[in-house]
This record gives sequence, structure tokens and C-alpha cells, in this order.
Amino acid sequence: MRRIVLESPGKLVVDEVDVPELGPGQALVRIAKVGICGSDMHLFRLGRIGEIRIEGPFVIGHECVGVVEEVGHGVSRELTGARVAVEPAIPCGRCRWCLTGAVNVCPTIGFLGLPPTPGAFQEYLVHPAHLLEPLADGISDAAAVALEPMAIAMNAVKLVKVKPGQRVAILGTGVMGTCVLALLSLYRGLRVVCVDLMADRLERAKAMGADAVIQPGDAADEEVAERIRSALGAHGADVVFECAGAPQTLWNMCEVCAPGAHVAVIGSSHDDRVIFSSGTTRRKGLTMRFVRRSLHTLAPCIELCERGLLSPEDLVTHTFGAGDIEKAFETVGSYADGVLKALVDMASW
Ligand SMILES: [Zn+2]
Ligand SMILES: [Zn+2]
Repeated sequence: MRRIVLESPGKLVVDEVDVPELGPGQALVRIAKVGICGSDMHLFRLGRIGEIRIEGPFVIGHECVGVVEEVGHGVSRELTGARVAVEPAIPCGRCRWCLTGAVNVCPTIGFLGLPPTPGAFQEYLVHPAHLLEPLADGISDAAAVALEPMAIAMNAVKLVKVKPGQRVAILGTGVMGTCVLALLSLYRGLRVVCVDLMADRLERAKAMGADAVIQPGDAADEEVAERIRSALGAHGADVVFECAGAPQTLWNMCEVCAPGAHVAVIGSSHDDRVIFSSGTTRRKGLTMRFVRRSLHTLAPCIELCERGLLSPEDLVTHTFGAGDIEKAFETVGSYADGVLKALVDMASW
């Protein structure tokens, strides 16, 4: 089978290897489409994300959809032929975090496309069958790929316990911020302000129902915070979603809060360091939740899609052939051409 290997930062090459062996409890999935995630961009450019480094050639990619071609021992034959969304995190299932439901923080968790688990940019993937979610025909491949970030956004929304009528700030309207906004549209009476450097992203946010949008431009952090607070009124935000991972948003996530607010930190900081005011945070008695991937939220997102309440395919702005994968990464990395979520069609080589 063919696979696309990240040979060194910025360099992807195609090679051929044997289709991996199928073990008990596993399924062989023929990959149809793979999304490019912000974390893939970190790996593509720097060969690392946070403290995790890629040593040597490696297959990345974790947002994928495909069709089950074969199942291993102990897996229901009914799964064969099913089109499936893939839960990319592979918890051990035995540690005390797994056994108490906090599978997302399992210390030995594996994850598609992070060493040592090869990712989805290949023709076939062997994956635990219980981490595959069969999809109804009405859910497109594009929607299925975008379900992965949507499930993370749902975890974030649950962690900060959003309630109807609250004032909410979304800092960064890339894929994660847009997913959060889509989920918040299911609540009544929220007042939502979205902040981004890019006008096209703010236009999308407005079209999706944001009550106000703010483009900081070159304004100082304090001025941006003041604009956000006054757009929300009543001392600022009850809930903040930090979805950019930039020093400015990581600083301002606490500055824009009303007393007693909740902050969900979703963005990955480029230099793995977060600086915010401990004085502000303490004085306002803020609750901060650092969001670790999804947590039992993929299936509920699928259900919302089936009921017509969520349309993750709206996030997908670009589809590239497998031969154009470097162009796909360059487009996403340079925010070119109004790109939000880009997919790679693995059936077109
Ligand atoms: Zn992702
Ligand atoms: Zn575990």
C-alpha cells in the first residue's frame, strides 16, 4: 500500500509498504479522506508538537473517514463494509484514569499520527474496532472528518458548563473556534463575541450567528480586552474559549472575564509556554480548564449531525488530491485562499 511519510520538517514523500497485519479486536480501514489539523501543521513544520518529537520518517494525520474492509478475531462481521468515523485516541483501558472514565488523560494513551502510532495519510489503517463509529449515509465524508475537532469542541463546551443566557467570548475563529460557535448555536439566549485577526473568518462567524465580531489589528492587548468586555457588557465574559494558542489570546483570556468566569484553553501554544496574569485570575476567582482532546463526545456529535442540528461539513473549504498534499499543507499553513479545514482525498493518487 502507499503512504505519505513526513521525512523531515516540511518534506513529505510517498513510499510503499505491506498492508499491516490485522490483530484480534482490530479492523482494517481503507482510508477515504483525511483532514489537516493544526497539530499536523505543528508536526509538518517543526517535527514536534509541545514536548512530543518525531524522530525519523513518520506518517502523520488523525482526522479521517474510511470503509472497513476486514475485521480481526472477536469483531462482529457486521462491521465489514461500514463507512466509519475514527476516534484517533487509543487509551490503555486498564489504568485508574481509564477505569474511572477519564480516558483522555490516560498516561500511556496512543494517538493516530503521533509516535509511535502511525497516522492516517496512508491507504490502509489498522485500528481498534471499538474506536470506529459507523456513519449513516446522510453524513458526508467531509462532515465525518470534521467530526474529530467538533468532538473536542464539545468536550470544551461541557467542561466550562455553558448555560443559556451567558456572555461568551471566543478568541480565535479557526477550526476549533468555529466548532465551538456551531455548538453554542444550540443554546438559547447567549451573547457571543468572536475575535480573530482574519476578516474572512469573522465574516463566517457573523453568518453563523455571532452577536459581535472584533478584529484586533495592531491594537494593544489592553485595548482589545476593553473592546471585548464592552461588546459583552456586564463586566465581560462568563465563559471564554481560547482557541488560538497565541501569546495575545492566552494573556487576554483572563482579562476579558467577568468575576467567577470559566475559561476553556483549547489552543496549543507554539513555544509550549502560557503567560497570563495570576493577579487577574485570582482576584476574579476564575476557573480554568485545559482541554485535552475529546471525551466520549464523538458519538453525541454524530447524533447531532443525524438530527440535522450540526453540519461539520461547513468547516471544509478545500479538498486536495493525495498528490497535492504539500500544497494542501502550504495552503493551511499560510491561511491562503480563505482556507478553514482542508481535506486530502486519499482515493485520488
Ligand atoms: Zn485534529
Ligand atoms: Zn489508561
